[in-house]
Amino acid sequence: MDPTDLQELKASIRTIADYPRPGIQFRDITTLLGNARMFRRAVDELVRPWTGSKVDRVAGIEARGFILGGAIAHQLAAGFVPIRKKGKLPHETVRVAYSLEYGLDEIEIHRDGVARGERIILVDDLIATGGTAEAAVKLLRSLGAQILAACFVIDLPDLGGSRRLEALEVPVRTLVAFQGH
Ligand code: AMP
Repeated sequence: MDPTDLQELKASIRTIADYPRPGIQFRDITTLLGNARMFRRAVDELVRPWTGSKVDRVAGIEARGFILGGAIAHQLAAGFVPIRKKGKLPHETVRVAYSLEYGLDEIEIHRDGVARGERIILVDDLIATGGTAEAAVKLLRSLGAQILAACFVIDLPDLGGSRRLEALEVPVRTLVAFQGH
């Protein structure tokens, strides 16, 4: 993407100060999603390296990863599999716990959501500490999936999430970065 387009994409993301807690700059992608041209550009650009390659499924992380992941799956002619907070999926699941700033959370995936050896792209709107995405990588790998890449519209590089995923040998693709939290 050329610098002007990237600038425009970044400007389409709304920042809300002190949400949901004081000190957090919440990066709100609803303004990007509501802009037809920016939504299409973000999806096209995120998956450009895999256009034409075989991708079996896109795994989206609840909830904004569902919106982007569904569009990306369509674009790549791949299936879609949801990764959800615990207790939301109706069939048999596998679950993994991960730490948050305060305490623990758990995410899960249907046990039959991914088959051994499948080629998967993981999607969420934003990577911060990488805790959520790392848990998703563990879930997918526990089912024998091959993770081609993890894609996020937004990187918060100061929080180190991208490096954390790369240390797990997951290639990371992000489009725009914001400094700080
Ligand atoms: P993390 O596990 O720390 O990488 O956090 C990533 C998850 O939290 C993603 O699902 C994001 O949507 C959400 N998140 C974390 N920080 C922010 C932020 N500053 N603005 C918007 N969403 C965030």
